[in-house]
Amino acid sequence: MAHTRRLLVLVTILAALAAVLPGCRGKVQQDGEIAGGPEALPEPSGPTTQRSVLVLCYHAMSPAAEATYDVPTEDFAEQLQLMADEGCESVTPSQIADYLEGRGDLPEKAVCITFDDGPESILTESKPLMDEYGFTGAIFLITDAVGGEGKLSWDQVRELEAAGWEVGSHTASHVHPTRIDAEQCREEFENSRRAIEDEIEGECGALAYPYGLYDDTVMSLARDAGYRIAFTIDRGPADWTDDLMRTPRQMVVNGNSLKTFGTWLAQGKLHLEDVDPPIGARVHTDTPTITARVADEDVPVDGIEISRDGNPVSYDADADTRTITFSPELSEGANNLRMNVYGSPRREVSWVIVCDSE
Ligand SMILES: [Zn+2]
Repeated sequence: MAHTRRLLVLVTILAALAAVLPGCRGKVQQDGEIAGGPEALPEPSGPTTQRSVLVLCYHAMSPAAEATYDVPTEDFAEQLQLMADEGCESVTPSQIADYLEGRGDLPEKAVCITFDDGPESILTESKPLMDEYGFTGAIFLITDAVGGEGKLSWDQVRELEAAGWEVGSHTASHVHPTRIDAEQCREEFENSRRAIEDEIEGECGALAYPYGLYDDTVMSLARDAGYRIAFTIDRGPADWTDDLMRTPRQMVVNGNSLKTFGTWLAQGKLHLEDVDPPIGARVHTDTPTITARVADEDVPVDGIEISRDGNPVSYDADADTRTITFSPELSEGANNLRMNVYGSPRREVSWVIVCDSE
């Protein structure tokens, strides 16, 4: 008992100290416990609500965009208007990480507007439009390219950060994470994070994998490099079931219609359980047999469209166990497996499977 009381006194003193010490990030809660600070954080408990957030991935923008990854400014304006009409609120990658770790909630209709590669048009074309709606965004920088032709400078990056935007990494030199060795990948993840933190004098906790490529090794390297959340370009919304190290993002490209954009906003994730081989595992055959259980009760197991890099894949469905089985023909390297359900609601999910047959 005496021991417990001494502990309580110690906790109270620590709490009081945390409250008065300048620069200490700890917050004193009602019950006298210390929260915040790396050591004092409670174990992540996971989300307590069932939120869904559409994370969008843009690149450059211009009034007369022609390239695939350049979105016409006018299209972006229409997409923003639609999001505003739907009552969407913008959130940052950190807010999504907080949510997935059980440290915060998300708005009911959340979107996260992100930009890869750091083009200068973020500041000249995209941000002024977003400001009109009160949306903030996130940028994923190729740190070696900052200040290059057509790219944001560090001063411009700081300007965005000061306006409430989040600055994340897209590696130092835009490597293919699944094609390089682990040591190089670690350096790319660590060096870019350090460069950003030095320049913005703040934290860089979000990563976007170049080309959306990942596997188990890449995901653990990202976590080890200090990122709280890492984004892919897997399809479908992010939601409460997501793995922080492979949060999906919907890529927006030139030519996407407003109708298509609207379906992304409205659709849910197709939830799979017991995926085998597990997502992230490399396979060593070009025709693996993949099984998964369809968890969404509203989805008829024989009503799913499966494709591999755009090529339809047939599958067997067992209605009793709600298990689907399919054997896609994979190419060497990264393949995208995608599943769509065109019911009500529409549902979608996709993931990367790396085939490494040697
Ligand atoms: Zn990129």
